[in-house]
Amino acid sequence: MAIEQSILAAVSLNNSGKIHLSNTNPQYQDFIVSCSEDITIDKDNPKWFYYFLCGVKGIQEKFGITRLAGMSCVVDGTIPPSSGLSSSSALVCCSGLVTMEANQKSLSKVALAEICAKCERYIGTEGGGMDQSISFLAEKGTAKLIEFQPLRATDVQLPEGAVFVISNCCVEMNKAASSHYNIRVVECRIATKMLARARDLDPSGLSKLAQVQTELKASLEEMLALVQEVLDPEPYSREEVCKVLCVTPEQFSTELLSANTQHLTHFKLHQRAKHVYGEAARVMKFKSICDSGSAESIKLLGALMNQSHASCKDLYECSCPELDQLVDICLKSGAVGSRLTGAGWGGCAVSMVPSEKVESFLQAVRNAYYIPDPRRAAMEKQSLFVSKPGGGAAVFMEE
Ligand code: ADP
Ligand code: MG
Repeated sequence: MAIEQSILAAVSLNNSGKIHLSNTNPQYQDFIVSCSEDITIDKDNPKWFYYFLCGVKGIQEKFGITRLAGMSCVVDGTIPPSSGLSSSSALVCCSGLVTMEANQKSLSKVALAEICAKCERYIGTEGGGMDQSISFLAEKGTAKLIEFQPLRATDVQLPEGAVFVISNCCVEMNKAASSHYNIRVVECRIATKMLARARDLDPSGLSKLAQVQTELKASLEEMLALVQEVLDPEPYSREEVCKVLCVTPEQFSTELLSANTQHLTHFKLHQRAKHVYGEAARVMKFKSICDSGSAESIKLLGALMNQSHASCKDLYECSCPELDQLVDICLKSGAVGSRLTGAGWGGCAVSMVPSEKVESFLQAVRNAYYIPDPRRAAMEKQSLFVSKPGGGAAVFMEE
């Protein structure tokens, strides 16, 4: 579901032949790019305006625009950055939408989401597409089940009587300036090829765990059994992977690793694949519990969220001590379920809290996590809040 916080850009068209970018937050410096030069994005230095340029480039490539419309943009945002609430995708989606409008093009929301998912990768993170999808496809009052190939979003009616509360552990993790995120993508890519090989599929066209499932026409439970059977819980070395997949060390570097993961020597394939298929199974269970409308729903959904956090922490290893501590505090403060959200390694937890307990929950989390630490206390207002499903991206026109 979308949250209410957003990235907002004020845009005017001009004939300067340039795109002027500025930000209301003085921490983000101005930038000017010419409409006729090739847009280059420096992955080694992921500054804020490169995220914006990802969206510009995505639209430019989609329509083969040789000369972009000149525009001046002032960006403002209320999403805590690098905290798992996808401020990066909000910014890329905002710039994609702005560039489409400025150049008098039009696209469906689904097409925009697909383009923005693809072009955010120019920043160097090999992201999926969920964040961009919900940015465009969100509708107020309903959560969405997002599925890919083809991209689609189905309404999921959350049970009455509980709300989601977001809490930020106040550890920032910049995904493009670190390799944690891409390491997991690489491990999943290698696991995909190992599973494919074990079942006599051609691994060359397969890079995502979901694709093996599709090829085998297997259930998620069958995929979990396959992981158990085929993948060793011990980390695999480069040499072992090369041997099983019959690839040279050079192919391994260029075809399996990304630019910022060349240093890796060992890969935890069993744990990562188990997390991914397990998490997918929990998503489907979550939806069917919501659809069932059972009186037990809230308790069952909470349990799934707790299992999810355990899996993120122990199998995918994408949590951090502060986030684990915060999730613990949330559970002790009255949440029925709590888990990290977004990529992890810092950032936010999302908790499901019975409506009648919200006030006491907020107070207890404040007292236990924020107030004792001056830095956290100063950030509390934007770090701890109730969130109802919000709407998607929109354009406001002034004649
Ligand atoms: P997230 O989990 O929020 O997506 P990322 O590490 O992927 O975190 O992206 C964070 C980056 O997004 C920031 O370092 C900054 O470059 C950019 N960003 C986020 N919010 C804003 C904003 N309001 N204005 C400009 N850039 C922003
Ligand atoms: Mg991000």
